[in-house]
Amino acid sequence: MAHYPPSKDQLNELIQEVNQWAITNGLSMYPPKFEENPSNASVSPVTIYPTPIPRKCFDEAVQIQPVFNELYAHITQDMAQPDSYLHKTTEALALSDSEFTGKLWSLYLATLKSAQYKKQNFRLGIFRSDYLIDKKKGTEQIKQVEFNTVSVSFAGLSEKVDRLHSYLNRANKYDPKGPIYNDQNMVISDSGYLLSKALAKAVESYKSQQSSSTTSDPIVAFIVQRNERNVFDQKVLELNLLEKFGTKSVRLTFDDVNDKLFIDDKTGKLFIRDTEQEIAVVYYRTGYTTTDYTSEKDWEARLFLEKSFAIKAPDLLTQLSGSKKIQQLLTDEGVLGKYISDAEKKSSLLKTFVKIYPLDDTKLGREGKRLALSEPSKYVLKPQREGGGNNVYKENIPNFLKGIEERHWDAYILMELIEPELNENNIILRDNKSYNEPIISELGIYGCVLFNDEQVLSNEFSGSLLRSKFNTSNEGGVAAGFGCLDSIILH
Ligand code: ADP
Ligand code: MG
Ligand code: MG
Repeated sequence: MAHYPPSKDQLNELIQEVNQWAITNGLSMYPPKFEENPSNASVSPVTIYPTPIPRKCFDEAVQIQPVFNELYAHITQDMAQPDSYLHKTTEALALSDSEFTGKLWSLYLATLKSAQYKKQNFRLGIFRSDYLIDKKKGTEQIKQVEFNTVSVSFAGLSEKVDRLHSYLNRANKYDPKGPIYNDQNMVISDSGYLLSKALAKAVESYKSQQSSSTTSDPIVAFIVQRNERNVFDQKVLELNLLEKFGTKSVRLTFDDVNDKLFIDDKTGKLFIRDTEQEIAVVYYRTGYTTTDYTSEKDWEARLFLEKSFAIKAPDLLTQLSGSKKIQQLLTDEGVLGKYISDAEKKSSLLKTFVKIYPLDDTKLGREGKRLALSEPSKYVLKPQREGGGNNVYKENIPNFLKGIEERHWDAYILMELIEPELNENNIILRDNKSYNEPIISELGIYGCVLFNDEQVLSNEFSGSLLRSKFNTSNEGGVAAGFGCLDSIILH
């Protein structure tokens, strides 16, 4: 890149431009301990330049998203059948990972046992499929890191970092002589709009199930973490819901759910007690990790919401469909074929998978155990957890495994490491400090799917995300402090 690296003066000017654009447009986050003064937000960690992504890889990820949406809808539908393969698999997983999968599964079983209210048949999946671009065999191929089925973040801020970089380019901030990129090749994600569109559509579907007696317009409840720092990402969806779709929303913690909501006995409908406001859609931005449930009361709140007639985004089964164990099972062509019969679709999915092994007593599981102990440098070990910071990498794997009883190893999967290209021509800006180190980038594609027990009612690609991290860090979470938001320049 001819304009890289910038001179010291240029860099200082760019940093100022980024900070000012970000504050003007809400490309921001709360800093730690913001509760002391919630009027202070800080600029999200971002890269200063966009990162080049091969057009072929981006197009492939976009095109395959509806197939992944369909796949995970079918998986969830299958899990709901008591004798199905995935029902039994999840049951077994609930035993080996009793702390989290087991808890969610027991809530699901509880909804079946005490089915006192009318059942809501619609489910809304708001998904994000994450990829690294593998360069191992001299080709560039997207390889799936994971498929997220709950609480996917950054749809709102993704759009903003894209617009930031496009602005810097068009306003000649990268180079006073003129734009350094062809603006046509800069991706502007519509994810902030498209996720709110999916939520609004779910509200419409809910309304269409009602007799004409529904009085007020039902709303969306965002179920959020206490002291959430990534509020402004979520706010983009809330504001879009109202401004683009006329749909109101509220933000509720699990405490609020316990204190402020009730379910109508006859209809199972969910309401806010004080205002009798009806809730059509329960959208989770919490509940994806053990620490989101601080006491038995939080689990009760989750069960209470699950039992209601509101449409859940996601419901328990859709959340469980995104377990790393299921991702591992799907790498078996026979298993995948149960949920996607079309041969072309199936092979396009398989192309994006790397090898994933179970660590159980099957033939493949024994091979997995052998590789984990003898060639750990090629692998990452993952538990059934979300939200970053949970994986064990490379040489740390053998000792980690030796520290736990072998009969518990099947709660983990062993995944081949993907080797992406390093980008040495970018700069990370975090807390007003710039870091000029090689980065690697993870592409995320959003997808929204509304489905019931039999059918897929709508299925859409919903925008993109690029997150980058230092090559030296194993994990890439932006909120967790490992990574930053980036944008895509296609080449
Ligand atoms: P989580 O659900 O906690 O986000 P991930 O499966 O996304 O878990 O793993 C976290 C991070 O670890 C990823 O963002 C990526 O940086 C790294 N990682 C995970 N799997 C692989 C892999 N197969 N190859 C290389 N890096 C990986
Ligand atoms: Mg995840
Ligand atoms: Mg991840």
